[in-house]
Amino acid sequence: MNKRIIAVANQKGGVGKTTTTVNLAAALAVTGNKVLLVDLDPQGNATMACGVNKMELQMGVGNLLLGQAEIKDVIYSCEINNLKLIPSNQTTIRAEIDLLGVEDREFKLKQALDGLEEFDYILIDCPPSLNMLTVNALVSAHGVLVPMQCEYYALEGLSALAQTIQTINQSTNTGLSIYGILRTMYDGRNNLTNEVSNQLVKHFGDKLFNTIIPRNVRLAEAPSFGKSVIAHDLGSKGAQAYLALAGEVLRRDGRVIEAL
Ligand code: ATP
Ligand code: MG
Repeated sequence: MNKRIIAVANQKGGVGKTTTTVNLAAALAVTGNKVLLVDLDPQGNATMACGVNKMELQMGVGNLLLGQAEIKDVIYSCEINNLKLIPSNQTTIRAEIDLLGVEDREFKLKQALDGLEEFDYILIDCPPSLNMLTVNALVSAHGVLVPMQCEYYALEGLSALAQTIQTINQSTNTGLSIYGILRTMYDGRNNLTNEVSNQLVKHFGDKLFNTIIPRNVRLAEAPSFGKSVIAHDLGSKGAQAYLALAGEVLRRDGRVIEAL
């Protein structure tokens, strides 16, 4: 089975990109897929959430992008079997700047990932901006998963992301499209949330995942234990929602779901 590369992106901050990348990656791993998570955000939140201390790392994704490390030297193991991580450390912010002076700067991640055949899924956690790091993710990916909070300004900024995806689609990566829109941090008791959610259904149709990620305290606290919510509390609503999302992803891609 060919690997699928999904960039998790939305330049709006704090919408659940990292929570989605980490927990979807874990959910796909525990359902029998070989998964690589790439932390492309200088904040290193996904790295820490996978139980890897970004302060203690010699090598990270920044070194990979700048040609200072081989890919095999930046792939780390996590607590979950089947889940590997390319972490982010303080070199990532350097890479964002230094890449600007490099030829083929938008292809660096793609070139690094091209030779990797052992993974079923590669999920890329993007920073909250449309910078050269995010462009590298979009040039590498088959599709873009866009987490959205159902609040008043949810759609703000989305047209810039859609425009960037279209530009990349017409130039460097003709296969690229929006893979799916995911409603995150959902609170069904809130009228506005429901209203915005209905608008998303109208606006995005099939692109919208049926799975809705609820606001759930277990999701918020899991990173402080260096764990995905799957490892932290499998029975929680948050864990069950991300497992359901993994099921939906696997069905969309025509792949088999292994029982837990
Ligand atoms: P950034 O743009 O800074 O990278 P992000 O889009 O990656 O942010 P997250 O870090 O995933 O967003 O989430 C923002 C905050 O909301 C975090 O503290 C996270 O723990 C919390 N959070 C995310 N999803 C949920 C949820 N479904 N329920 C409760 N808390 C959540
Ligand atoms: Mg993040």
